[in-house]
Amino acid sequence: MTKNIFEALGIREKNGGTIIGLRESFDNKKIKEISSFSPANNRKLADVTITSREEFNQTIFEARKAFKEWRKVPPPQRGDIIRQYGDILRKHKSELGQLVSREMGKSLQEGKGEVQEMIDICDYAVGLSRQLYGKTIASERPNHHMLERWHPLGIVGIISAFNFPVAVWSWNAMIALVCGNVCVWKPSEKTPLCAIACQNLLVRILRENGINTAISSVINGDRTVGNWMTSDPAVNLVSATGSIRMGREVAVEVGKRLGKLILELGGNNAMIISPQANMDLALNASVFGAIGTAGQRCTSTRRLIIHDSIYDDFVDKLKNAYKQINVGDPLDEDNHMGPLIDQDAVDNYLSALNQIRKEGGKFIVEGGLYTEKKLESNFYVKPCVAEISPDANIVREETFAPILYVLRYNTFEEALTIQNSTSQGLSSSIITENVREAEYFISSEGSDCGIANVNIGTSGAEIGGAFGGEKDTGGGRESGSDAWKVYMRRQTITINFGSDIPLAQGISFDF
Ligand code: NAD
Repeated sequence: MTKNIFEALGIREKNGGTIIGLRESFDNKKIKEISSFSPANNRKLADVTITSREEFNQTIFEARKAFKEWRKVPPPQRGDIIRQYGDILRKHKSELGQLVSREMGKSLQEGKGEVQEMIDICDYAVGLSRQLYGKTIASERPNHHMLERWHPLGIVGIISAFNFPVAVWSWNAMIALVCGNVCVWKPSEKTPLCAIACQNLLVRILRENGINTAISSVINGDRTVGNWMTSDPAVNLVSATGSIRMGREVAVEVGKRLGKLILELGGNNAMIISPQANMDLALNASVFGAIGTAGQRCTSTRRLIIHDSIYDDFVDKLKNAYKQINVGDPLDEDNHMGPLIDQDAVDNYLSALNQIRKEGGKFIVEGGLYTEKKLESNFYVKPCVAEISPDANIVREETFAPILYVLRYNTFEEALTIQNSTSQGLSSSIITENVREAEYFISSEGSDCGIANVNIGTSGAEIGGAFGGEKDTGGGRESGSDAWKVYMRRQTITINFGSDIPLAQGISFDF
């Protein structure tokens, strides 16, 4: 089955299992590789070549050349290329979805859902290709015409995290390409095959249309390779998705050279459950938000802030729901949750459990490793629920695992204070039928997050809106709404169609 998936996605095997990176010219050089493992069974999927410094320089050189051609292509024609990419993704949704599920470990449904997000952003970008509007502005001078135009930036460098190995790239790349930029992608070293598959499908479309394939490249490797990109002044915009630690490092590098930056970093997302909540809705939203992608979404629900009057009842329901969660092979559609990505993630999870105990937390649903059932790797962990003080240090951290904290509140103000008390500001939600609470939550005095949902969980987002968060989440926005403007430079243009030159500030020269 793996062979068929690889074939469909253009991933070629060499020397009994080594996967060639992106350029065959690697063949003659001393090649360094990273291995891609499936966390579901700890089996090696492939070895993937790491980009060398020399190859990185060459990639940037080719990208700059490609930009000179691509920026001249009318935007609707660029949109047509993206439309074709969306079509090939539709055709290979199943194979790419399976590869995502296999390499990253998320459930098959979520893997295919991620590819669907790629298709959706392609559709969005096609529409956008005819809507890159500027403004006409009233000039204060006679016979003058003032306007704004948007031009592409040049090279957009995309750094992505392991947990959304294909969708995050497409949110950036499809918009950036339609705007006339070229892209260089540094995917997570934990999911390099997904990147190669996306690239192969795109290259197929570019070749069929006679477009220089250097408008989109992939460079593989760890943060060293990422650092070449962030420190290179030729990369006009860096869009980096990952941990807050990474964001702080990248911000310094890009800031040193005054480059443009989009940061999409960690979250610590809370859901307020009001006494006037629809309880079934709240329960479904909580469980999906906490265990989806094994708690490894930037928008995963980590904190439930529950009103005292319904707390015991809701926690009982939660306990019951957790008993029904099936954990196991993500490719088996009967399972709700797959493994964590690797041993480091398991170690972080276990250390968080210890910290919860140290800080006086009490487990409503116990966490830990599975000893009672045999699973195909050691990366499967128990989804758990802990009751703890909202002020505990561990609650303020983003542990990238299925750990859900339940916190009690009495007044609405108290709930909001708890919700806003973390340094991260990505997603937030309130479950209530009370219109006053709902409106207050989305007002300027309410949630301080980039995303504020009413009667929807914290997890996931539609591509039509701008996606991103405040505070330590980095402040970046990508995907829909007017996020495209970040991928372009604004030019203010004034045209004088008269024969006089009125000077500013009433100054006149008498020549
Ligand atoms: P990570 O920070 O370890 O790595 C992310 C990417 O950054 C990788 O490609 C890595 O190689 C690269 N990188 C790391 N340090 C770098 C440096 N100094 N310079 C250049 N590149 C560097 O994150 P991860 O473990 O892959 O992903 C999980 C984190 O990502 C979580 O915190 C999650 O919340 C966050 N995330 C945020 C969003 C969002 O949109 N806000 C989306 C997905 C994931």
